[in-house]
Amino acid sequence: MAVDAQGFPVTRTPAGVVRSARASRDLAVLDARISGCRACPRLVAWREEVARVKRASFRDEDYWGRPVPGLGPADARIAVVGLAPAAHGGNRTGRVFTGDRSGDWIFAALWRAGLANQPTSTHVGDGLAVTGVRIAAAVRCAPPDNAPTPAERDTCSPWLARELALLPRLRVAVVLGGFGWTALWPVLAAAGYALPRPRPAFAHGAEVTVSGPRGELTVLGCYHVSQQNTFTGRLTEPMLDAVLARATELAGSGVERGEDGSVRP
Ligand code: SF4
Repeated sequence: MAVDAQGFPVTRTPAGVVRSARASRDLAVLDARISGCRACPRLVAWREEVARVKRASFRDEDYWGRPVPGLGPADARIAVVGLAPAAHGGNRTGRVFTGDRSGDWIFAALWRAGLANQPTSTHVGDGLAVTGVRIAAAVRCAPPDNAPTPAERDTCSPWLARELALLPRLRVAVVLGGFGWTALWPVLAAAGYALPRPRPAFAHGAEVTVSGPRGELTVLGCYHVSQQNTFTGRLTEPMLDAVLARATELAGSGVERGEDGSVRP
């Protein structure tokens, strides 16, 4: 594969995403290929424009301005699936949910659940480590108005499908918001999971268990940690904590807490 100036393999078409994702042998390869993806012209233009213009308060920072790969180890039993990076959050820092108010919420909750070693996630190199969980997004590029198109969602879905396939111990998927909920079902179908018909509607607290080639996977619905939800009280910390507590419960008895409170898979 051709590589870009930073050494990331470049993918330019939806068909290329399918091929490149399938051929990714591990998460490191997948993350690098995601980081070099240019398959959605509208999103490529937007993410790079945002990175060039910058928000005034971040004008001295070098924005990532690329797709944002997932975070977390390959032995994760829990996946958290969000919508897409924020223009001045993940698109700036290069780490999923890092550097914005949504990230403040999800990482604090992951820390309370014993899945992160610290409650904050501000920048790469801040010491954050997550255990037992992989955090990803349905769409990897920051979209205008936080609104990817259905075509962009579908183009990006092979990256998520491959990411989940590279988590052999996965037992629970926590989906943040209706967009990710809708995006996940075709991904699971492609991975060989038998899906309920009709597709379950998104709801906070929804719980659906599906069977697939690697056993059962439980999908949990949770309101997205967006400011529209957290500022208005539609999503509260106890509500988020309850979903993550259910996720860790379902993830199995092998989840143990270390001395620092983090979960040991
Ligand atoms: S949204 Fe996904 S498929 Fe589209 S350019 Fe970004 S990483 Fe590639």
